Amino acid sequence: MRIDIVTIFPAFFDVLDVSLIGKARDRGLLDLRVHDLRDATHDRHRTVDDTPYGGGAGMVMKPEPWGEMLDDVLGDDAVLIVPSPAGERFTQAVARELADERQLVFACGRYEGIDQRVIDHYAERGRVRLVSLGDYVLNGGEVAAMAMIEAVARLVPGVVGNPESLVEESHEIGLLEYPIYTKPAVWRGLEVPPVLLSGNHGAVDAWRREQSIERTRRVRPDLLPDELRAGE
Ligand code: SAM
Repeated sequence: MRIDIVTIFPAFFDVLDVSLIGKARDRGLLDLRVHDLRDATHDRHRTVDDTPYGGGAGMVMKPEPWGEMLDDVLGDDAVLIVPSPAGERFTQAVARELADERQLVFACGRYEGIDQRVIDHYAERGRVRLVSLGDYVLNGGEVAAMAMIEAVARLVPGVVGNPESLVEESHEIGLLEYPIYTKPAVWRGLEVPPVLLSGNHGAVDAWRREQSIERTRRVRPDLLPDELRAGE
């Protein structure tokens, strides 16, 4: 999969050299390229923003540098992802859809965001998705893009060593994941639930499912599948 990121802060993405994503890049599973939007400016100050038409606080990202950069970077079947608090919410289902794509291009806004015509222009020519990380406001699209890239990249075959570890996770099973434990069996007086030491796989599975349901009901009741809502 190819992932391009356009930003005025390329250094944000230096950390994509480490951990599983770094390894996936080394192994050629991910072709990740970071572009500095200011390389598509032509004035002495490398200006990417201007005052908003209609007035108001803050600055707006100018369309010309975005147009020049995106014309270069967007391949024929690419999806342009514009992180925005005004977008559809990013979920595991969206991550799965994006993991099937050949090229994703992330356009990281700053200030009050990007001139709407950039989004309209590319939506007429190809696929554009405005995607929100959640119901809060960040300073820029970089952290949102980073979170989305990590969630998508780990679904690309081969990026996570053991594919089974992807299957049981929160948001994949329709419930939140059950609590997890490792050695030692007692830590600071706290014991691992005895059923996990029993060697009885059926009992372990039943306990985990029960814990998942209880945790989901308590923390995220909105996620509970209909059949588990009965009686609420
Ligand atoms: N004026 C915008 C609004 O109210 O919708 C917010 C602009 S925000 C200060 C600057 C940039 O941060 C946005 O263009 C977007 O790229 C990014 N951003 C902020 N919050 C985000 C969120 N929840 N999800 C994704 N991107 C976000």
